[in-house]
Amino acid sequence: MPTVYVETYGCQMNVSDSELMLGKLAAAGYSPVEQPDGADVILVNTCAIRDHAEQRVIGRLGELKRHMKSDTVMGVTGCMAQRLGPQLLEKARHVSLVVGPDGYRALPQLVEGARRGERAIETSFDLEEHYEDFTPRRFDKVKAWIPVQRGCDYRCTYCIVPTTRGAERSRRLEEVVRETREVVASGMSEVVLLGQTVNSYTDGTHDFADLLRAVGTVPGIRRVRYTSPHPNDFSDRVIAAMAEVPTVCEHVHLPMQSGSSRMLKRMLRRYTREGYLDCVERIRRAIPGVSLTTDIIVGFPGETDEEFEETLSAVREVGFADAYTFIFSPRDGTPATRMPAELTVPAAVASERLQRLVETVRTMSRQRNMGLLGTRHEVLVEREAKRGEAMLMTRTRDFKTVLVPGDSAMLGQYLTVELTGTTGSTFTGAVVRERQPLPMAG
Ligand code: SF4
Repeated sequence: MPTVYVETYGCQMNVSDSELMLGKLAAAGYSPVEQPDGADVILVNTCAIRDHAEQRVIGRLGELKRHMKSDTVMGVTGCMAQRLGPQLLEKARHVSLVVGPDGYRALPQLVEGARRGERAIETSFDLEEHYEDFTPRRFDKVKAWIPVQRGCDYRCTYCIVPTTRGAERSRRLEEVVRETREVVASGMSEVVLLGQTVNSYTDGTHDFADLLRAVGTVPGIRRVRYTSPHPNDFSDRVIAAMAEVPTVCEHVHLPMQSGSSRMLKRMLRRYTREGYLDCVERIRRAIPGVSLTTDIIVGFPGETDEEFEETLSAVREVGFADAYTFIFSPRDGTPATRMPAELTVPAAVASERLQRLVETVRTMSRQRNMGLLGTRHEVLVEREAKRGEAMLMTRTRDFKTVLVPGDSAMLGQYLTVELTGTTGSTFTGAVVRERQPLPMAG
């Protein structure tokens, strides 16, 4: 059997796409392997969201060359493949396949062609494509990524995703429910619904509220999460579904990007600071104890000190449990790159702002986390923390990370833990009560 190795960069959507690619190639007779050495096919599934991510991949492609046999096929898939297309074949002569996010159906034929010495590019969009008939080869044995939507119809001025993943389209609710049942039958009880703006989901008949209710009531499902929503798509129906379906976890990753209405307008986020804070308020009112995390960009063109201060004040006002913070990275082809050069924020200023933002987020989360010591929570054991350390990485329903002692036999179990310590962002805990996972649904 020929072997295939897939390496994944970027977001959970890419992880899910890698699982679909591996499933497709396994069905075509390829055996997935966990190391690149000597693999017959090496695929690098890439991210284009920041220049840094792309540079890492370029470097990695060079390194992977060392692991190739004389007849190994090397392919690049995902957003960078879509963005750069033929340039990738020119830049990396050992790459023979370039396949964008809508081209994975043709992978077996493209790989066969490449094994015969052909070089191929497949970057056309297919707005009907959801890979419904693929059986994903899941990496994770405890929680399942389920894509419910592909592409994006927003046009945030800094973002390359609409260019690399095309227009938004949603899977049919029945298909998502079918996949959820399969996930339960395979022994998992947590699903994470994925979409670029997942709460704008619509299959023409059902909205995201319907989807949460349908997935959340599949027998055997115990936790439902989703990522990433857009603040504008938090209808009262969606918030009510979150509040009313007990399996939907009390955590929302709600990208804010900036706390300044002027910057938000420039980013074309389509909400104001007040609109974002109102969304937070509506979610909090409906779901007591909900935890909020976010994404924030600093140094976007034209960001003044005052506007950055508004971001800091919004962070303080919301009290995020955590934030993924980034310095603006210009992407060719996005409107932000056409903004006047004098609006560019100097790198040193952007770095200093990032540092202050990170410190603000950390200080607040440390304070809050210290106050939680001694409380008890239900956690799901997700994986071993580090090989050989006899510690497990677990998560609470509201997405806190808790390290507890234990071994791999406990993966997938629900436990009750008492929080005993915190590093600021993560906790250590003591197991108070062990519980078995739900029996497998047939
Ligand atoms: S909502 Fe904006 S940031 Fe998110 S994927 Fe779409 S364009 Fe990009």
